[in-house]
Amino acid sequence: MSAIASTELVRQQNSLRMLSALRRHGNLSHTALAELTGLASATVSAITAELERFSLIERTEQQAASGRGRPRVLFQPNSRFGYVAVVVISSDAVQYSLVDFTGKLMDRFGEGRSSGTSETFAQAVLEGVLRLASRSKIAPSDILHISISSKGLVDPASATLTWSPVLGEGQLDFRRTLSPHFRAQIYLYNETLLAAEALWMRNRGREEGVTSLAALSLGHSIGLGVARDIGEGRADVSAPNFGHMLNVPDGALCRCGAKGCVEAYCGFYGILRAAFEVPTNTIPAKFVPLAEVEKIAASARAGNRMAAFAFRQAGLVLGNGLSRLFSLHGPMPVFVTGPGTRFFDLLKASIQDGMVQTSVVRMGGLPQITIEPDEQSLVFDGHMGLALSRLDGDIVMSGMVAPQGS
Ligand SMILES: [Zn+2]
Repeated sequence: MSAIASTELVRQQNSLRMLSALRRHGNLSHTALAELTGLASATVSAITAELERFSLIERTEQQAASGRGRPRVLFQPNSRFGYVAVVVISSDAVQYSLVDFTGKLMDRFGEGRSSGTSETFAQAVLEGVLRLASRSKIAPSDILHISISSKGLVDPASATLTWSPVLGEGQLDFRRTLSPHFRAQIYLYNETLLAAEALWMRNRGREEGVTSLAALSLGHSIGLGVARDIGEGRADVSAPNFGHMLNVPDGALCRCGAKGCVEAYCGFYGILRAAFEVPTNTIPAKFVPLAEVEKIAASARAGNRMAAFAFRQAGLVLGNGLSRLFSLHGPMPVFVTGPGTRFFDLLKASIQDGMVQTSVVRMGGLPQITIEPDEQSLVFDGHMGLALSRLDGDIVMSGMVAPQGS
């Protein structure tokens, strides 16, 4: 690497460090910025000047309490620099949110999910994001980042939904549909990956020695997100295809078309099928209303044998699946989220039984399990964490912020 290129890289990294400190801590003085980033005072001055010149950050002056002396200068991201659109796709609805450059929520609305082809669905998402802009009276070009999430299999590199519980195999290329209308970068995430990201941000540094965690989402489908420490408080976050991992060869028919997936036993439709003794090769229900599962749960709690068996079987399969995760990646705390958490009383014992069947848990002990009922907040927090840091990265790396004279 040439000397100029490497100076440029250091400058970009320092700019990102400063932006990330401002995102994490809010308003900061020059001294606090130097302390939090570990950068020299002169470097902090040069970078704040540059970020201010490009309107990425702005300063406010605070008069000292005594009313005398020089006012204290505080820096923060410039809320009007640009906006982030967040689109959360769930099985029956789509939620649109608009967030400013400081991370503040400006607008949010939800829409029922139209049934139809991938093409009409992509069109509906496009119209939803355009409506976010018009409702807040900003130009579509003011949206700098679009962050979309769904359950199912996503290809993050191309922002394509390759398989989802709602659209099946109808591939959905969000970048192709949205790009012509925005200058924003478009990202697509698996929903449980975002939950794991949010849990990581919340829990990092809180407990000694925790270097990874898992988020397990229970509902109509089963999702898993894993966050693993890669140093400096950051994590590598992934969403292995846990719901469609093989549990038993030639087992119960899954919605994905395969037989014996984890989801075919633990997803709401799997529980419903077992509770009513429907043959396991029956094509799964497209959607099971929560009220139906509530009824099965009530009946299990009242002592109905098949209803209790359905939950017990689901718990065992989940426990087995988690123990396989620990065998491959080592033990880690598990955070359970999603609508299925309301049935955790019926699942807990069998999840533990399912886990202790493997030596990794027998020898290492049961992992810590925490219930996080509010999946929507987790997913949104995950969006925000990734969207703002990626947006900062895209802006700084694009050369939009360049030193004077270059
Ligand atoms: Zn499957």
